[in-house]
Amino acid sequence: MFNVTCVTKNEIREFAYKSGIDIVGFASPDCLFEYRDLLKNRYENGLSCNIEENDIEKRINPYILLEDVKSIISVAVSYNVVYEADLPKSAYGTISRTAWGIDYHKVLIDLLEKLRDFILSKCNDAKAVLLVDNNPLLERAIAYNAGIGFFGKNNMIINEEFGSYLFLGEMLINVPFEPDSKIESKCGSCTRCLKACPGKALIEEYKIDANKCLSYATIKKGYLSDSTLKRLGTRIYGCDTCQDVCPFNEKAKKVTRREFTPQNLKPKHDLREILSLDKKKFQELFGTTSASWRGKNTIVRNAIIAAINSNDKDSIEPLKKLINSESAYIRGYSAYALSILHKENAFPYIEKAYLNEKDESTKEFMKKAMMNIRGENFEDNER
Ligand code: SF4
Ligand code: SF4
Repeated sequence: MFNVTCVTKNEIREFAYKSGIDIVGFASPDCLFEYRDLLKNRYENGLSCNIEENDIEKRINPYILLEDVKSIISVAVSYNVVYEADLPKSAYGTISRTAWGIDYHKVLIDLLEKLRDFILSKCNDAKAVLLVDNNPLLERAIAYNAGIGFFGKNNMIINEEFGSYLFLGEMLINVPFEPDSKIESKCGSCTRCLKACPGKALIEEYKIDANKCLSYATIKKGYLSDSTLKRLGTRIYGCDTCQDVCPFNEKAKKVTRREFTPQNLKPKHDLREILSLDKKKFQELFGTTSASWRGKNTIVRNAIIAAINSNDKDSIEPLKKLINSESAYIRGYSAYALSILHKENAFPYIEKAYLNEKDESTKEFMKKAMMNIRGENFEDNER
């Protein structure tokens, strides 16, 4: 057992702040067990999405990762950078702040490694496990229990000084620290996020239906429902709306962090450039960002949807190429987009693609695109 005085919480905070972490809190490793019923309820009511871990134990039990864990250190780094995005003259796709700049996972892991090495230099033989969105443990609930911020009605962790544009990371450690106090919600009577949510995903205060969240829709593969297609607007990756409208973010401290400032990929990026991505260009624009993990096709699918929602006729030429894509759902969506943007002129392209199409779902989609041109009923295509 370690002497609890091998390093103090204040020494850890001081080191963390100096190295670039904005907020540090301490939680008990047992703090997640009370979420068992809440998670069970979410799963039973279909409110979780298919990228969420469905083994509840893995979401609440840190002892699986570190048998003798005594504390969880929660850290937060603000990505509320000042950046005035130039609007491109042409139609654009919107990139969430979470994907501006360098992939935050790398930045946070780097900071956590420094913090771990500092603690290990004081507490010989201590053991630590570092997490940044690479494990199903409930990281927002850890941050809440560690006093990083309160849960907003939009389900984000909100810190009074830094707002909610926060990347979170955790260190499980076998050194005991006194847990910090939780902060109860300061949302009061505000309901801005619930009213603004374009996906209607905030079904109640503090309750989200992940399947309706547009952030999830931008990473979900394949075909989306027609209603989701319309609601996506110009979103290419992620959705920031419920945070953008939050009064706590209006008055939040701004930070200067080069690593989270847009580089090649712009917050409102030229749509035709995304529609024309090849592997090399995809790497150049998305490779270093956190938006790259879902791959090129999902990004291009979203760009096709953005072209439809922006009624961007300049996208017609790239769409004529994409109708021959290797990806079935890109072919299907290109056909649908052409049926809307190019109308009857698109008919020969879609018909030719339809006759060559082998994928049954996509064939069906193309058939509906042709019906769309003829003004026949185009049914919702949820798959
Ligand atoms: Fe709604 Fe967008 Fe927030 Fe999801 S991210 S809850 S869609 S506002
Ligand atoms: Fe809370 Fe209002 Fe912010 Fe929503 S917008 S999280 S209700 S303060």
